[in-house]
Amino acid sequence: MKRMCEVCSKREAVILCDACGKALCSKCYEFEVWGVERTDFIIKHFCSACKEDPDINPWGAFDKAAGIEELIDNVRNIMKQTDHEEKRLLKAM
Ligand SMILES: [Zn+2]
Ligand SMILES: [Zn+2]
Repeated sequence: MKRMCEVCSKREAVILCDACGKALCSKCYEFEVWGVERTDFIIKHFCSACKEDPDINPWGAFDKAAGIEELIDNVRNIMKQTDHEEKRLLKAM
């Protein structure tokens, strides 16, 4: 049996909230990019309630301040850099 979204109950769930474990559909989940180090990051998926909770999602404020497009641009740049570094490492080996 397919699991339905626990927020809207209308669509099929595609992912679970990283914080509360609720099943979320593609319309109800929100993603957040967490920087770990300057060049390291992880992508978290949250329901809207957890995304708004600063205890769960300390990066939420940063997200709003920077704007999601800017954030995604940053992530793309980091990904490109990582890719280059990996290729460089492969060449060196
Ligand atoms: Zn939903
Ligand atoms: Zn949640």
